[in-house]
Amino acid sequence: MTERYLLRNVRPMGGISTDLLLVDGYIAKSAPSMIPDESTTVLDAHNQLLLPGLVNAHAHIDKNLLGLGWHKNQTPEPRRIRDYVDNERRLRRELDLSTRTQSAHEVRSAIAAGVTHIRTHVDIDTDAGLAHVEGVMATREEFKAAMTMQLVAFPQSGMLVRPGTVALLEEAIKLGADCIGGLDPSTVDRDPVRHLDVVFGLADRYGIEVDIHLHEPGTLGAFAVELIAERTRALGLQGRVTISHVFCLGMIDDAYLNRLIDLLLENQINIMSLGSGVSEFPPLKRLHDAGVTLCTGSDGVRDTWGPYNSFDMLERVKFLGYRCGFRKDEEVEFLLSVATHGGAKVMGAADYGLAVGCRADLVVVPGDTPTQAVMDLPPRTYVFKAGRLVATEGRCLV
Ligand SMILES: [Zn+2]
Repeated sequence: MTERYLLRNVRPMGGISTDLLLVDGYIAKSAPSMIPDESTTVLDAHNQLLLPGLVNAHAHIDKNLLGLGWHKNQTPEPRRIRDYVDNERRLRRELDLSTRTQSAHEVRSAIAAGVTHIRTHVDIDTDAGLAHVEGVMATREEFKAAMTMQLVAFPQSGMLVRPGTVALLEEAIKLGADCIGGLDPSTVDRDPVRHLDVVFGLADRYGIEVDIHLHEPGTLGAFAVELIAERTRALGLQGRVTISHVFCLGMIDDAYLNRLIDLLLENQINIMSLGSGVSEFPPLKRLHDAGVTLCTGSDGVRDTWGPYNSFDMLERVKFLGYRCGFRKDEEVEFLLSVATHGGAKVMGAADYGLAVGCRADLVVVPGDTPTQAVMDLPPRTYVFKAGRLVATEGRCLV
């Protein structure tokens, strides 16, 4: 049976109050004081804010520790990426975690917080094999009506340095991964050209997208950006490549940054940033003003890397705004657009937004303005996914 909702008295992005009629998964009509027929469920939002569904374009839902009690955070020494990775792999073995259970836990929490889209990087290594992919695929299937999910086959422990990993990545793609990931081609794999040739070779062979973790600093990271752009152009993958973190964009001189911005634009390469507290990060407003598509995400939540990240994308916007030194409402709202429209574009979500005809992926939340919702982080009053009510008062209904 089709679900029909009349959502009364919502203020899209804090604007003028209206009613929305949701039919067959879409926003069918927007007008004040509509009269519902008897097959329509009526919900009154009492002039609360209406936002489009929040987009977490960079998650790791396969390895959180949610529901397990507090994990005492201890950073490994030294603090290189590979030390965190080794620490995580060791703890994962000791705790005997179920990817299926943990990923479902995170998805439920995200739904309750108004997230309607998640791109998640899923660990593939020669210890775990494809167990994480299989667990997350089962979770994607379970929640397919409530969450749009993309999987990135991700060589978290390195690719070339761990023989057998490339074959596993290829298997993961055959199982249904949407993107191929990569990781610090110089500092982890010690061979940036070969690393990126393998990653882009898989993308080309299987017609999938690329999303690469790049933490490498300064000119080393910038050189990787150049290599990524070169391969994007050579394979005609414009608009289908994302680079995540890209700390180097916040570390190089102006002239070099301008050259890289030109490369990003020419090749329509997207940038994912979450304003990680440990490093410089890309100048987001400058990239946006130049025309680069930006998205953000949670990264790993309640994992072995650190305690700060949250599945709540409004909280991410708040952290990011703080990290950017933003104070004006319009600056906060720019970051909210990164966590909504930017992420939706990167994930190729068609018909996304609050206009009539868009998919009814919606969040109703208290607040006078979007900036107030970001600062107060109140429980989400209603969350809709494809026109279906999936959370209310901060509780997931699925
Ligand atoms: Zn990540």
